[in-house]
Amino acid sequence: MTQRDYYEVLGVAKSSTSDEIKKAFRTKARELHPDVNKAPDAEEKFKELGQAYEVLMDDNKRSMYDRYGQDGLKNAGYDQSGPFEFGFGDLSEILSSFFGSGFGGSGSRRNANSPVRGSDLRLDIEISFEEAIFGVEKDVEIEHLETCESCSGSGMEPGTTPMTCNTCGGHGQIQQTTQTILGNFSQVSTCPTCGGSGKIISTPCKNCSGQGRKETSKIINIKIPKGVENGNKLRINSEGDSGKRGGHPGDLYVVLFVKPHELFKREGVNIYLEQPITFAQAALGDEIEVDTVDGKKILKIHPGIQSNTILTIKHAGVPYINNSSKRGDQFVKINLVTPTNLSEEEKKLFQRLFEIQNGKTRKDSFVDKVKASFTGTGS
Ligand SMILES: [Zn+2]
Ligand SMILES: [Zn+2]
Repeated sequence: MTQRDYYEVLGVAKSSTSDEIKKAFRTKARELHPDVNKAPDAEEKFKELGQAYEVLMDDNKRSMYDRYGQDGLKNAGYDQSGPFEFGFGDLSEILSSFFGSGFGGSGSRRNANSPVRGSDLRLDIEISFEEAIFGVEKDVEIEHLETCESCSGSGMEPGTTPMTCNTCGGHGQIQQTTQTILGNFSQVSTCPTCGGSGKIISTPCKNCSGQGRKETSKIINIKIPKGVENGNKLRINSEGDSGKRGGHPGDLYVVLFVKPHELFKREGVNIYLEQPITFAQAALGDEIEVDTVDGKKILKIHPGIQSNTILTIKHAGVPYINNSSKRGDQFVKINLVTPTNLSEEEKKLFQRLFEIQNGKTRKDSFVDKVKASFTGTGS
């Protein structure tokens, strides 16, 4: 890959402040991280981004780069072509803030041998409206890294022993001194051969190719409690990726997506329903069956009820998530439906009603004229 300008890689101006660089890096790292971006060149681009960030966040390297470019950095002993390492403490922090705390541990200079917690993982699950209300158990298949059974995470083929690293003589660090026109530059860095451990694996474990962890799929049972809402997150302890060098596994976060219901709407612990009724039911009163999440329930319509009246069915709402013996209510909004397409018999009855209520016979011709003037088809 040809080396692009570091400012261009980050998409910032030459005059940008370190805050601006940091911000640009966060945004780009999020979209390019190989865990989320599966494009074939994502890893290369991500490395390039890391290099650009490392140089531009370091005042010395940045001024060197500004004046002498890539060659200036190389001459000064800052070799950018080697394996990309997260030398900056805050870089690891930034990444772990959105990729889980296990991220970047392999590059940490200070503790190349200490345990690293596994990454947290996220799983999205879609559940029905009713499942969110009454809870549900689901068996789902997840993929995560598990400690290799064969080598117990060491990455070494069982029965073999690690060798002392030749490059660093077992120290884990190397010192490089480079003579340049600007003077001698001395730099201590993590040994690129052993990654700072001082030892190298002579025979990598065949089961995990020396990684110590293996991508494994697994069925886990997830208990979704009563009363959850769209967007709620459940944490499943230790079902993220396994740790490195005996570190704790990460957690699995299950994010719930609740499908909307065709009849019910939900707001917190209360459920809303629109219930159509006829004029006759509204005028005379009735007992009707309405849908609730518990099935049909009888609702009393009192005589003379007006449209948009809201009736309450107590305790037919959603269980409280922290106390499922308590429930919200269901609110039923009465919707008076004006009849259309009357049958002959209905028409007669309404005409009779019209006469009683208005003290006159309804004149068809008059109404039709009015109607025609609205639709523009009459004279
Ligand atoms: Zn193994
Ligand atoms: Zn070494």
